[in-house]
Amino acid sequence: MLKLIKGGEVYSPDYLGQKDILLTNDKIYLIADEINIDNFSIDIDVIDAKGDFVVPGFIDSHVHISGGGGEGGFSTRTPEINLSTLTTSGITTVIGCLGTDGVTRSGEDLLAKTKALNEEGITAYMYTGSYSFPIKTITGEIKKDIILINEILGIGEFAISDHRSSQPTIEQVKQAAAKARVGGIISNKAGIVNLHLGDGDKQLDYLENIVENSELPRKQFVPTHINRNEKLLNRGLKYALKGGLVDFTTSTTDEFLEDGETKCSKALKKFIDEGVNINNITFTSDGQGSLPEFDKNGDFSGLGIGQVSSLFKEVRDAVLDEKIDLSEAIKVITTNPARNLQLKNKGELAQGKDGDLVILDSENLKIKTVIAKGQIMVENSEILQKGTFE
Ligand code: ZN
Repeated sequence: MLKLIKGGEVYSPDYLGQKDILLTNDKIYLIADEINIDNFSIDIDVIDAKGDFVVPGFIDSHVHISGGGGEGGFSTRTPEINLSTLTTSGITTVIGCLGTDGVTRSGEDLLAKTKALNEEGITAYMYTGSYSFPIKTITGEIKKDIILINEILGIGEFAISDHRSSQPTIEQVKQAAAKARVGGIISNKAGIVNLHLGDGDKQLDYLENIVENSELPRKQFVPTHINRNEKLLNRGLKYALKGGLVDFTTSTTDEFLEDGETKCSKALKKFIDEGVNINNITFTSDGQGSLPEFDKNGDFSGLGIGQVSSLFKEVRDAVLDEKIDLSEAIKVITTNPARNLQLKNKGELAQGKDGDLVILDSENLKIKTVIAKGQIMVENSEILQKGTFE
């Protein structure tokens, strides 16, 4: 029940120095310079973190947890995610979504997978809907889904500026967002609109138009895949400078990067240098979505799967290659998504918050140990908790 993480360099994400952290059940009970347990007469698990960094558990707020893809026929549908694929990537909170396929995939199935991951020991939520409008919900209404189903935080991933979108009108997007907003207000949730941006020319026009011609706040929208091409990245920069939230996708391929996608660590550096408040930026992996692969001649050679491990890898590259401070870079997968999604007990190491943390090797920033809701999921790279069918 009690766990003591001893002597790590703690990033809350602010750098707190060398601290001990005491976990009771699923919460952080105490963070102090030294916690002495000599007089305790009960068993306490002590985890030695001397010389290591301790950071909050990571939040990945866009993962196709129940499987995605299927854009090249039925055999290209990707499988659902395993618990340890998330935990070995340091992810202790995940938000599931559907994508292009809202026919053979359903909200009910996604909700069941979300509940399963919660049962298996991490924290999981989801968005209702898929790429298409009208948004296909579980209860029949966006508002009802958000108000009545605990796990649902908003709508998404809803596609705009993409040949695969349902080509919604601005008015339709506005109406759906308005319903998500009221659902969120009534249930004290974010009511977030997770927007998929494609390669279409309209880019962020839709969104600019909506926030400028309605009472809906800019921060209710999280447009994702902003790093997918240079034009969209530059447009996203302007949008973020006006106070909008932007999300970069970490799963990628060499071909995508050659075709003009910007690596997340570099996009983060660019936005910070241009004056964007880092609080407006998040990274998500788009994990478990399908990724086309090409051979040396550029011919299609098969499909890969978006990796959730890319989430922290890009933060690591931002620290090691782009020289962004760990206390800053880590915000894009901890405090920032927690704030955007109104997950009040997540994203921070502080007394009373959930016992979600990651211990990193301070030499190379490799993930060593992962604790979710006070339970050790991975210890020194060894998986201690596996999903039911792993
Ligand atoms: Zn997408």
